[in-house]
Amino acid sequence: MEYLSRILKHVTTTMPFKYHPLCSHLKISHLMFADDLLLFSKGDITSIMILLRAFATFSVATGLQMNTMKSNIYFNVVSSSLKADIMQVSGFSEGSLPFKYLGVPISAGRVPVKDYACLIEKVTDRIRGYAAKKLSYSGRLTLVNAVLTTLYTYWATIFIIPKGVLKKIDALCRNYLWDGSTEYMRVPLVGWEKWVHHVYMKGVHWHVYTPKATSLEWKTIYRVRQKFELAFSSSSQWLPSSHDYTPASGYNWIRKKQPVVNWEHTVWNSWSVPKHMFINWLITREALLLKDRIYHLGVSPDADCCLCGAATETHVHLFSQCVYTRRLMQLLSSKLKISLPAVNLLGWISSKSWAKVKKWVTIAWIQAVYYTIWIQRNSARINGCIMHPDAVIQHISSILNLRTMYWLKCTKRVSDETWIK
Ligand SMILES: [Zn+2]
Repeated sequence: MEYLSRILKHVTTTMPFKYHPLCSHLKISHLMFADDLLLFSKGDITSIMILLRAFATFSVATGLQMNTMKSNIYFNVVSSSLKADIMQVSGFSEGSLPFKYLGVPISAGRVPVKDYACLIEKVTDRIRGYAAKKLSYSGRLTLVNAVLTTLYTYWATIFIIPKGVLKKIDALCRNYLWDGSTEYMRVPLVGWEKWVHHVYMKGVHWHVYTPKATSLEWKTIYRVRQKFELAFSSSSQWLPSSHDYTPASGYNWIRKKQPVVNWEHTVWNSWSVPKHMFINWLITREALLLKDRIYHLGVSPDADCCLCGAATETHVHLFSQCVYTRRLMQLLSSKLKISLPAVNLLGWISSKSWAKVKKWVTIAWIQAVYYTIWIQRNSARINGCIMHPDAVIQHISSILNLRTMYWLKCTKRVSDETWIK
């Protein structure tokens, strides 16, 4: 199939082939998985014939033929006369949308609600398939979390699932949890508030309740109640002026108004690798579980930096002062040919005005370096080994390779193009 990809790439670049309008930007002419093949082109006879001739070349070389009984052609916004001509020269019969590819319906527009019936059916079949009644509650809960939710999570990565469908699946999972079947007409055995009353409070009224030995989360909820109580007895601080309490007014009072940050659009963008962005967000929030914190929790015997062992492992040390980080930043600085400040790199970029592509390339690199520092720190802690800084830069370069090709396409300035190369 690699050979077919090469032929298609060759014919679509050397011949007068026109891409499907939605595929032209990324130059996609085909998608394939195992023996499933989708070919895309603009609705004109020349482009379709180029694709079919390329496939014929592949068939002659490999002996693999397409099954015309199982193959269809799909049109969207094509005149009926052109449609008839295309069908005549291609020999395909017209298929109707949506069709299924990799288990999900493919449609020209938004997938209509009725097409989600197969997802609901799938969940229902799984529930009926289990020896449901024989499983304990925890067994059913494990099945719901590990199997049923993954079914619609897969769909949710491709489509925005309508609220009604999610509610229906939720109901199926809930019924299965309580009764081991898809239908459950009775009131659930236990509501959340009853469970709280019986397990934690044991019948005591919430306003006079004090937790004893219990979980950290429950103690936190109790502390919030105390805060509200104290603020109310002094001057009703959390009540709005109208004296009609709303959850929003209480929430805004307890969380206090946070200052506006300048790194929001720098950390979250469409250019960096998503896992890099997430770790960078945690770094800017100083929320990673570093040794300074786990030492205070009594989990670690010391608070020394995992990478250098020469100072306490704090966010400031690990991501700006550590000798390993400083060496990486030096290498990055010479690679990008930019003088980077020692601290608050993302804040520095946000305040800087320069060409869009150059800015986002720099951000993607910095985020990748910060992410790798975190990974190397974990490797040092768990495996006792780290990558050499030179190898780290090479490794990041290979990760960002595909993105670099895309950046080269996006940039309009010759100077930026040379810089990216
Ligand atoms: Zn260090």
